[in-house]
Amino acid sequence: MFKKILIANRGEIALRVIRACRELGVSTVAVHSEPDADSLHVRFADEYVCIGPGPAIQSYLNIPAVIAAAEITDADAIHPGYGFLAENADFAEMCESCSIEFIGPTPAATRKVGDKVEARETMLKAGIPVVPGTASNIEDEAEALAGAEELGYPVLLKSTHGGGGRGMKMARDSDELRNLLSVVRSEAGAAFGSSAVYLEKYLERPRHIEIQIMADRYGRIIYFGERECSVQRRYQKLIEEAPSPAVDDELRARLGEMAVRGARSVGYEGAGTVEFLLTRTGDVYFIEMNARIQVEHPVTECVTGLDLLKMQIQVAAGEPLGLEQQDVEIRGHAIECRINAEDPARNFAASTGTIRTFHVPGGPGVRIDTHVHPEYVVYPYYDSLLAKLIAFGQDRNEAIRRMRRCLDECVIEGVSTTVPFHRRVLRHERFVSGDIDTGFVDSMEMEKEKMVPSPAT
Ligand code: ADP
Repeated sequence: MFKKILIANRGEIALRVIRACRELGVSTVAVHSEPDADSLHVRFADEYVCIGPGPAIQSYLNIPAVIAAAEITDADAIHPGYGFLAENADFAEMCESCSIEFIGPTPAATRKVGDKVEARETMLKAGIPVVPGTASNIEDEAEALAGAEELGYPVLLKSTHGGGGRGMKMARDSDELRNLLSVVRSEAGAAFGSSAVYLEKYLERPRHIEIQIMADRYGRIIYFGERECSVQRRYQKLIEEAPSPAVDDELRARLGEMAVRGARSVGYEGAGTVEFLLTRTGDVYFIEMNARIQVEHPVTECVTGLDLLKMQIQVAAGEPLGLEQQDVEIRGHAIECRINAEDPARNFAASTGTIRTFHVPGGPGVRIDTHVHPEYVVYPYYDSLLAKLIAFGQDRNEAIRRMRRCLDECVIEGVSTTVPFHRRVLRHERFVSGDIDTGFVDSMEMEKEKMVPSPAT
């Protein structure tokens, strides 16, 4: 096992990694930006190093500063968390050349899945269905129009190296596509350092279903069931749950086997997620693979009783997976609400400022992963996630009632949050009946009157 792990991240995920390290008996090094000097991940780590000013590009994304921090503290591994450097193969390579273990897949596997066009091709070869789309990047307008004509409108123009729901736009006709081509290209260039784009058929209101996997170095790959992440705004997840109300045992096994096959075909190691879209007619298509631990991993931990973070660190340290596929059992139901510093009444615009009151719920079946405390300052530099509120119960009904109760207990003052939005969703008849898809949030905004009266919880 590693002796000391440096956590190249901040916020709740940095705390989550520190907690896993504590339980494994591994010491920890936090890195932080200047405004994060007093944050909890710094206080909870055994050591800490300031790596630069507030803007992420000068601190959490500053590769030389992160590597230097690992060298001076003599850390033998780096955990990247999610976001920032988590899927940066150049960074993983640099760790390797400095004899620091990067906790994640090899740079080659990261590159294969990080290029969506290449990932699609690899999955197709492995016999996994992908959303119909162009086989290569689009070079010019003529190619885009020809590709869209073949697929049929509407189409989705996607950044080949995109992520986080950014650099993606839907076109209903050729005029829209012409206009969007340069927009998406320049957005992608600025955000991902590559302006490569390709086209996918735009599926109408699918469900987002993803499979958590873990792979050790010895060829064993296990899947841990699915998460349903269809409650989204702007292609970004707001609520995730496990299991999915739309997935039965047969589909779970089919998706799980596809995910394992896909991971195997890229030589995957570590924790990963294979994402699929499930259409209204029951077809499933691969969309992408995320080469990291994800924000929503706790719902899987709740229903499997496993600690995915510890497992991820153990396999990175060269330990074999200590369980077999048939050992994974899904029990009960878990729902996660992302509490973001955003104003749902203003189209989820970011909200910054100082949090004056921060009271989070407790009681049975509740897990809260957060780095926030009273007087915490929400800066504009980082993502807006304040807390992950997870409620779990014996079944979906209990998890829903518990989550409503938890949301009613939340008191956060000083910034706007997504709590009022979640309160509405958890009482919406479509959510309650499990009839959700990626168009749900938009349709909910349009038909607010469809709320069922709040039952006593
Ligand atoms: P990112 O890497 O930016 O997260 P993804 O490819 O994972 O992008 O897609 C994010 C979300 O965008 C999906 O969950 C889904 O809601 C929507 N989406 C992606 N591809 C399609 C598609 N072909 N048709 C309809 N919606 C899609």
